[in-house]
Amino acid sequence: MSDLQESKHASSLVQLDNGIKIPPSGWQCAMCDKRDNLWLNLTDGTILCGRRYFDGSGGNNHAVEHYEKTGYPLAVKLGTICAPGADVYSYAEDNMVLDSKLEQHLKHFGIDMAKMKKSEKSVAELQADQHQAMDAQLLASLADSHCSIPTEHSRVYKDECLYSCDNPESPNGLFICLKSFHGVGLDFLPLYYSRFGHRLYLQHRRIRRWKEVPANVVEDPPAKKPTRLAIGTADGFAGNESQYSFEESNSLYLMPEAVAMPLPNDCLPERIRLSIDGVLAAQSAHTLELLAQASNTWEGETRQESKHASSLVQLDNGIKIPPSGWQCAKCDKRDNLWLNLTDGTILCGRRYFDGSGGNNHAVEHYEKTGYPLAVKLGTICAQGADVYSYAEDNMVLDSKLEQHLNHFGIDLNAMRKVDKTMNELEIEANMREWDSIQETGKALVPAGGPGLTGLRNLGNSCYINSVLQLLFAVPSFVRRYYDGRSSILERERSDPVSSLDIQLAKLADGLLSGKYSAPAKGQQPEQPPKPGDLAPAYGIRPQMLRTLVGRGHPEFSTSRQQDSFEFFLHLLTLVERSSSLAQADNPGRVFAFDVEDRLQCGQSGQVAYKSRRELSLKFTIDNNWCPKKLDVELDVPEFIDIGFLRGCGGLQPGEVELKFPADQPESAAE
Ligand SMILES: [Zn+2]
Ligand SMILES: [Zn+2]
Repeated sequence: MSDLQESKHASSLVQLDNGIKIPPSGWQCAMCDKRDNLWLNLTDGTILCGRRYFDGSGGNNHAVEHYEKTGYPLAVKLGTICAPGADVYSYAEDNMVLDSKLEQHLKHFGIDMAKMKKSEKSVAELQADQHQAMDAQLLASLADSHCSIPTEHSRVYKDECLYSCDNPESPNGLFICLKSFHGVGLDFLPLYYSRFGHRLYLQHRRIRRWKEVPANVVEDPPAKKPTRLAIGTADGFAGNESQYSFEESNSLYLMPEAVAMPLPNDCLPERIRLSIDGVLAAQSAHTLELLAQASNTWEGETRQESKHASSLVQLDNGIKIPPSGWQCAKCDKRDNLWLNLTDGTILCGRRYFDGSGGNNHAVEHYEKTGYPLAVKLGTICAQGADVYSYAEDNMVLDSKLEQHLNHFGIDLNAMRKVDKTMNELEIEANMREWDSIQETGKALVPAGGPGLTGLRNLGNSCYINSVLQLLFAVPSFVRRYYDGRSSILERERSDPVSSLDIQLAKLADGLLSGKYSAPAKGQQPEQPPKPGDLAPAYGIRPQMLRTLVGRGHPEFSTSRQQDSFEFFLHLLTLVERSSSLAQADNPGRVFAFDVEDRLQCGQSGQVAYKSRRELSLKFTIDNNWCPKKLDVELDVPEFIDIGFLRGCGGLQPGEVELKFPADQPESAAE
């Protein structure tokens, strides 16, 4: 524990002059009856209990909740105070820290450090106890039966918990089962363990910290107006990832003991190490899904054979390209390199908006020469490669690629992919942040709290997100999936990835609990964070739900932008089916209404009424509804009077019923 860092908050800590004096013993949590594992907040002197441990012991989280409300960053574990020091925790930095002014900070609340005796185990001692529980012999005995090594086809669910919206950025991270590669949040680990009995997990955390804390993120207009719905490209939305720094932390986690061993660790059995390395290196199940959808497409469109492919003239200049070790002919770039298929020149790709990528040498070469096709070198493998047509300004197919590469001495079948394909880069970019998107120049006020949770974009998924937000504002959906979520989890024993009920219950919890939302209005912490402090990651990514709902559907399984109304109807159909299987009320029924058709015979004047069930009523857009931005926003009236549509409920006085002869089709009467 000698590697503790001085807290950034220590030297400048403001301590309130509230007259609080702490006695040398006999402490109790101010909010419950806990008498051990107590933490003294060094800003206001409040004594509150520590975190709840996984097995239900520990505290009741009162200290960390106090921090979330106040932003007061430092607390000392009361029972560990003694002359040499004490355990100091920085909530803001999410770490045990040093506080070089600890003596003075304690004195402020009347505690004389030199006179105190240690009465409780320190955090380091508790951790050492944990490591003993995970001894080498036990791990060796679990290596065969409780872990597998992922292959390139394994579905590794490392983005999202099966049962909740927890993810690697959740406070405890995500626990990825080393046997099945399912991810589970801490709250659902006992359930998962009780159902499957798997004992080894990779606790995977992604920690987001402020690089610089913006004075007011909200009122700064975005730097430029985006012109297309793509992120990270020159004319798309700029991600605001640069505000944050990220680090990863991994531990091996053992169930049911609930103990963690920080990684890397040299003493792990080979098989467990390979399993962990494989899980960390694997493409996530969600990314695999997106790549499969995107194969042979670019920006959602199917790649077409290039017009230049069949007639391409290749210069006989004797150039032969080695199978590796390439570099741009004009600069020192060694990745993102493109081989011009006309003259065999290797040059770097385009510069991305954030300054990464290449130096534009390949596209400049095209502008000088007009040689139209280039292949991305690192993507060449037996399955093909990324080919770009400068002339057509698109990713294209080249059915003669093998021959074109042969011309420069490259054997396609002997090559291995070493660089990211354009689809992989696109998917990565789409997974980045969208926080800064807003109306130009408008100060939007962020909303937060239960029911006000954002859905992150999963790549052209705004049509899905708007429907989901709408549905979970409807009481019947709230009842079935939010109020009923624990019974759904109890009942649904099938594969959670394929269970619509579980995925909708999970979404309901994500949207409505407030766990993943920004703080409600008036509940923002009093003290602003400092650079290096944990930064919140609000919002949820319902990736499993999206994949599940799109499964087998020709449109919704793609990453293309779709019609949200069609999606709404599709989802209602799935909900109806799963509700009937579960013998539960169909929450989508609230959308149903009857439409009355009135047929009148032109000759006899007789009338027939028929009614049918519908889920939607279409309106033509009134001229007074003003589109503010094409496809993006519409000012809709608060109330729409549909009274004129009221049916009359069947035959009216004076009408004679039109009877259809049994052998005559109804349409003949119209
Ligand atoms: Zn408490
Ligand atoms: Zn270059």
